[in-house]
Amino acid sequence: MRYRSWGPRGVQVSALSFGCGRLPEDDAESTALIQAAVAAGCNYFETASFYCGGQCQQKTGLGVKGLTDKAMVSAKIGVEPTTTADSYRKEFERQLTVLGLDRVPWLMVGWLSVENLPHLTKKGGALEAIEQARSEGLIDHLGFTGHDTPENFIEILKTGLFESMTVSYHILNRTYEPAIAAARLLGIGVVAMNPVGGGLLGAPSAELQRLLPHASATTAALALRFVLANPGITTACSGMATLAQLQENVATIDGVPEAADADHTAMTAVLDQFKSLGDRFCTGCRYCMDCPHGVDIPGNFNLYNLATVYGLRDHARASYHNMEPAKRASACTRCGECETKCPNQLPIIAQLDTVRGLFESVAV
Ligand code: SF4
Ligand code: SF4
Repeated sequence: MRYRSWGPRGVQVSALSFGCGRLPEDDAESTALIQAAVAAGCNYFETASFYCGGQCQQKTGLGVKGLTDKAMVSAKIGVEPTTTADSYRKEFERQLTVLGLDRVPWLMVGWLSVENLPHLTKKGGALEAIEQARSEGLIDHLGFTGHDTPENFIEILKTGLFESMTVSYHILNRTYEPAIAAARLLGIGVVAMNPVGGGLLGAPSAELQRLLPHASATTAALALRFVLANPGITTACSGMATLAQLQENVATIDGVPEAADADHTAMTAVLDQFKSLGDRFCTGCRYCMDCPHGVDIPGNFNLYNLATVYGLRDHARASYHNMEPAKRASACTRCGECETKCPNQLPIIAQLDTVRGLFESVAV
């Protein structure tokens, strides 16, 4: 396992960390999986109380029992208008009890945004509870996670309150790259969530092989390498559900040298090319929405791009057929209302015909 320095205080964290949101249902299996991850060198385990149908923290606690010298566990608590220092402390103590731990190295403020930041920092608010817990040795480090815009996350990073930021980041979601770069400049660690696209990148793709033409690797392994090649990323936090996934991820990390900036530049150039190809079909701006007949225009075009540009044909086809029929391309009545709203003047009706032809024909 490779280790990296996490945040301004240089905590050593494994390049592959463990998202505990997809643990097996059976407690003995989830314990064995966590113990295997610790044995493989993973030393960060991210939890939230509602993952795994509310069982995540109890399962994680069982898995790391007796191993907390090798496994850092995080708790996650959000803030809302009614949050007080007292209510935050109670929730923190509740999560510690469920985890079966008397302290956690990391506390992540969950679902944070610029809009709800004042609920954290107000007088008598959550931050006072966090500082108190820190003074009692119950927490070592503070981070945040959320889904706000990259610009707003940069504002949050600049408050100086946090040592780590957790964001979704993978080949098909590079939205947070500006915030990741800002965190790097500020010396703040970044945990990449969903590094293999929540399973989306599990399928083979000849097109994505172009990211690293000299390497023969699965799409998931390429995806992991892409994330870790970003110099702003500290650890790739993968939600692993099976021993096989753990073993593949560990092999990917152990089998390649630490990625260089040049790898990241090369892979980014290929992805930029894919993006511009995809943008020709639709940029996803959503100005055409809502369709009065319920068609999810950008959703259909995104699936078309996943199939044709990124080579994820099986996934895209399955996703198309999982959409409600009223949202599919075939539900278009050809009323023409959307076409006047598209800033790229795309022939939306004709393109929806193409999408329908691709996904509703017998073979892709
Ligand atoms: S042309 Fe089709 S997609 Fe566009 S608004 Fe009309 S029904 Fe919706
Ligand atoms: S307005 Fe045009 S580019 Fe934007 S989402 Fe709709 S079809 Fe795509």
